[in-house]
Amino acid sequence: MTQQKLSHTVPAAPGLQEAAGPVAPTPAALSALRPLGLGQARLRAEGLLGRWRRRNAEDTLPHCVDNLHTAGNIGNLRAAAGESEDEFAGMWFADSDVHKTLEAAAWQLATSPEDDGLRSFVDDTTALLARAQREDGYLNSYFTVVAPQERWAKPDWSHELYCAGHLFQAAVAAARTGVSPDLLPVARRFADLLVERFGPDGVEEVCGHPEVETALAELYRLTGHRPYLDLAQRFLDLRGRGLLGHGRFGPRYYQDHQPVREVREVTGHAVRQLYLLAGMVDVAVETGDLALLDAAERLWADAFRSRTYVTGAHGSRHREEAYGDPYELPSDRAYGETCAAIASFQWNWRLLLATGRARYADEMERVLYNAVAAAVSSDGRHFFYSNPLQLRTGHASSGEEAASRRLPWYSCACCPPNIARLMASLPGYLATADDGGLQIHLYGDASLTAPGGRRVEMRTAYPWQGRIELEVAEGGGGGQAWTLALRVPAWCDTYTVSVGGEPVRVPARDGYVRLTRVWTPGTTVVLDLDMPVRQVTAHPRVDAVRGCVALTRGPLVYCLEQADLPPGTVLEDVRLDPAVEVTAARREDLPDIPVVITAGGLVAHAGDSLYTAGARRERTGTPLTLTAVPYFLWGNRSEGPMRVWIPVAAAG
Ligand SMILES: [Zn+2]
Repeated sequence: MTQQKLSHTVPAAPGLQEAAGPVAPTPAALSALRPLGLGQARLRAEGLLGRWRRRNAEDTLPHCVDNLHTAGNIGNLRAAAGESEDEFAGMWFADSDVHKTLEAAAWQLATSPEDDGLRSFVDDTTALLARAQREDGYLNSYFTVVAPQERWAKPDWSHELYCAGHLFQAAVAAARTGVSPDLLPVARRFADLLVERFGPDGVEEVCGHPEVETALAELYRLTGHRPYLDLAQRFLDLRGRGLLGHGRFGPRYYQDHQPVREVREVTGHAVRQLYLLAGMVDVAVETGDLALLDAAERLWADAFRSRTYVTGAHGSRHREEAYGDPYELPSDRAYGETCAAIASFQWNWRLLLATGRARYADEMERVLYNAVAAAVSSDGRHFFYSNPLQLRTGHASSGEEAASRRLPWYSCACCPPNIARLMASLPGYLATADDGGLQIHLYGDASLTAPGGRRVEMRTAYPWQGRIELEVAEGGGGGQAWTLALRVPAWCDTYTVSVGGEPVRVPARDGYVRLTRVWTPGTTVVLDLDMPVRQVTAHPRVDAVRGCVALTRGPLVYCLEQADLPPGTVLEDVRLDPAVEVTAARREDLPDIPVVITAGGLVAHAGDSLYTAGARRERTGTPLTLTAVPYFLWGNRSEGPMRVWIPVAAAG
């Protein structure tokens, strides 16, 4: 198949108002909810989410672009295009970092078209990818430059389809936002090659690293070309038949041990598992395959009832970057890869759209404000790859694998561009609409416009405060009543609602307060979520944190840091004193943190012997005041020990 034989029509560039976000189910999909597009949900820069997105645009994205050049990713593509003799640099799947950064750039340019630097990156890189593409549509710099004889030869480790998937997602973003029409034809030539090779009459193979399934589903959603969806489904159907072989870690590592509809537990490499689950939901809703959706929800129950950290992180084993056994959730040895947190957010969004169930939005919020947010430094240019919940005194950093501080880049740099694409597309995850109204899932300072001319202005200092003020700016609906649905997070026990200044009693149903009215412009709604500090305990089977509490407030998990302890105090010796009240407030000594938690502590003296016969009697020493800061901010002031789970001193 040659490039000349295919001529795909490029859909007309949409206006921003119509530009769909990363996940756009077709009208025929079995989706309970429809996401608002990037132009319909606009984050203002005043709120925390808006500031994160701005930092992403101003710091993280340019930093990623610079590193793609210096780390050699762009050079690899030049070599594939025959324009450079340089040696291949980095991982064999280095192209995926280029694709993810392109995707991020497209989402960002949708709302910042004036960013000339980003625009040049998109235009130059798109043209380079077109030149690096082979005659038959194949596009992968490693298997073009280094190992052409191994093309498609090692599906268990080659990541060829994984890289293709990220290319497709970048092309979808560029086309949906109207940022560039030129990447889509490149992506489609490659996708057509995949259909030819792996389609119904082709070879029976799957990729060792799932990702192409969700990407093909989205490419289908954009183009309406059914063979892409069919291929995604075929890749799912072929999984679990041992096609990938035993490999180094066994078939559970890459979820090839059982057919996807029969699996009962999340297993293996967490990012692979979570991307696979995202693809399962996409295919399920587009094909009406309820067994596939059931399987995804069953695996959700397994993952979130026994294998998820309180920060929303996934993956408790460094070895194989994998899920552990049920309740195996050690804080200090937590792996919690940033990409797994992002993939969890993406998977939960797909389940939320499919079912409308609030629990999925709750998990999106948990992972976004904690595991995802903690992976980026305050300057937007340093990143964690693994996200432990405890860093011990004397921690010996094993380099990139368990860094004690955020690093500017990684030899396997999957995480930073993944953060960039999530943050750039964040407005697309705030709210949904259906025929009956507008549903708000994540709170932030934003303007939301639902189809039918319903516009709501949302103002809030969330997550620092639980008060969310909404004003119906345009009633829409042609004078018909419609329902404004507001999520009441699972962490919230009490809340109040008022409409037009008058308190209303509306019990939340299935996690949402639903207000049905003929809305007139100017009507205000206030949802006030009580946000006391909570002392969270883990299920007793989580041996690693038995006897400990985690301090949380609203969606934020807090932690203790060495920076807030008196000199000479060892963080591991600190206990929470249950007799002292825990409070939350702004503190003058920490002006950059809007809400700091203050608690009472005791320094335990357990002696020097490692093991003692009988129960150890800890002598409590000097009481001290404990300062807890949001986990997502840890490691920004100084390098040093940190812990989320705090041992509680025995009651006096
Ligand atoms: Zn990663």
